[in-house]
Amino acid sequence: GAKSLGRNNFQIYAPSADLSQQQHVALKAKLRHAERNGELRVFYQPQVDTLTEDIVGMEALVRWEHPELGTISPAFFIPLAEASGLIVSIGEWVMRTACAQAHVWEKMFGLHLRLGVNLSAVQLMQPNLVATVANALTDTGLDPSCLELEVTESISVKTVPHLVESLDALHAMGCRIAIDDFGTGAASLDYLRRLPADRIKIDQSFVRNIGVDPDDEAIVRATIDMAHRLKRGVVAEGVEIEQHLNFLRANGCDELQGYLFCRPLPTAAFEKLLAERQRLLTEGLSPVGSA
Ligand code: C2E
Ligand code: MG
Ligand code: MG
Ligand code: MG
Repeated sequence: GAKSLGRNNFQIYAPSADLSQQQHVALKAKLRHAERNGELRVFYQPQVDTLTEDIVGMEALVRWEHPELGTISPAFFIPLAEASGLIVSIGEWVMRTACAQAHVWEKMFGLHLRLGVNLSAVQLMQPNLVATVANALTDTGLDPSCLELEVTESISVKTVPHLVESLDALHAMGCRIAIDDFGTGAASLDYLRRLPADRIKIDQSFVRNIGVDPDDEAIVRATIDMAHRLKRGVVAEGVEIEQHLNFLRANGCDELQGYLFCRPLPTAAFEKLLAERQRLLTEGLSPVGSA
């Protein structure tokens, strides 16, 4: 099942504090060639329906396979890419690669999987963002309703002046909008009121404290309740243990994402997971637990 497949995925975390200024500059220069050299990969992490645990979508997560340093986490190199502007071309590459892949899987398995793609503030500041997304969809053949653009709550309407207009235009095109890392920024409620969000993603810092901190449990419950009252969906990130699952299920969270089900997987491993799911369905077995 996916739990064992997921263990093939190793990643190193290179916190910038461990790097000298010189190494930092060198890495930034290397990142410039990473895309061209084929060192970037898109990994996919399943999102499952809370009740059935069946796969209903996936999030595209970029990785940098550095020839000497190994797999570098996006938490480390995305900020470098943002600072140098490289995020614009990297982001477009991720979007096109993931949309093309999602369309392949849709045809291969007859599944209408939802694809989450992260957008950085720098991408959202590009005047041609809407056209870039539209072209990616047209060129790859993916239906706009399959694409969910994830916008992190730390992006402020002050730094991205046309944020609301851009997201409205993407939403009007048929794309879905998700507010990522919900609850960690200062603008949670304002965001919900102003952005055309179809759903919110509860940040893993709250999910991690289920069973640990009653205050965080109260926040998770209240967030799910609020989202539903506003007719928005909710997905929880960072679901790692059975206790998280039980709590989120009891409180009506719609979908779940986390290591309990599966780690982010390379393309071939994710495809194997979908094939295995289909095999179980064909044999009349429930795919529950396989995801
Ligand atoms: P995010 O969008 O909030 O993505 C979720 C992160 O949580 C991913 O980290 C994922 O691997 C991790 N995760 C999933 N389940 C669990 C779990 O059960 N426990 C724990 N501890 N972590 C879990 P990842 O892949 O390292 O990405 C980190 C961040 O980098 C992302 O956070 C996103 O903000 C950014 N990022 C990743 N790919 C892209 C991209 O293509 N474009 C942009 N702009 N940002 C990206
Ligand atoms: Mg995300
Ligand atoms: Mg997140
Ligand atoms: Mg994040």
